[in-house]
Amino acid sequence: MSFKDSSVREVLEDVFDQKTVLAVVYLMNKGILSKLYGTVSTGKEARVYWGKGRNGEDLAVKIYLIVTAEFRRGRLKYIVGDPRFQGASLRGRELIYQWARKEYRNLKRAVSFGIPSPKPIAVHENILVMEFIGEDGVPAPLLKDTTLRDPEKSFRELKGIIEKMVLEAEIIHADLSEYNILVKENDELVIIDWGSAVLTSHPNAREFLLNDIRNVYRFFREELGVETGSPEDFYNYLAI
Ligand code: ADP
Ligand code: MN
Repeated sequence: MSFKDSSVREVLEDVFDQKTVLAVVYLMNKGILSKLYGTVSTGKEARVYWGKGRNGEDLAVKIYLIVTAEFRRGRLKYIVGDPRFQGASLRGRELIYQWARKEYRNLKRAVSFGIPSPKPIAVHENILVMEFIGEDGVPAPLLKDTTLRDPEKSFRELKGIIEKMVLEAEIIHADLSEYNILVKENDELVIIDWGSAVLTSHPNAREFLLNDIRNVYRFFREELGVETGSPEDFYNYLAI
């Protein structure tokens, strides 16, 4: 076992199997990742680590855990119906690889349209490498945990982001809420966790969009006291 192998193994803490450890080592050998530090987040479906790139820049390394039956049941509807994944094998580990690839592609699309989200760097098997949003390994706080200077202004900003997502990038996030929006120092919003996102041509796109809008409106109205108006009006205004 090489030095990198053993240090990676330590950081990955027995949570991941041999194949995942090797996939991280592959990214290191390729020079995409130069260091992998501790976890930033330990979710049910993925863990996010702080790492460094070839020039010492901070990276977020999201490693998907291998599929549970629940993941399979819950996630299939976001992949089936997406023309970008037609014919892809969805058995066993393949489903999780497709999921990581899907998040990578969604990020790429979002960034290319100027939607504030982490820049994707690489995807390999169940590992997604992207720009780190935060400072020195500390991620920017989630919208749900922060105090905005001007909630009305942030609400307008978020509506603008949603409008751009839908009308320009033609993508629906499908898991948008105060849990998947980071807030940078200057109150700039950054949308994360793009695995569920679908194109507006997806058969369930409308349902997902209305749900996203309702989540956001509920949070700003109930938690921050913003006079949001009706989520349905905004949905109808977008009229996809
Ligand atoms: P999940 O909700 O599926 O576990 P997320 O993509 O929402 O995965 O990431 C989980 C957490 O990891 C986020 O709440 C955030 O704290 C952190 N995180 C995710 N992506 C980044 C990133 N690019 N930069 C900094 N922190 C991140
Ligand atoms: Mn999330």
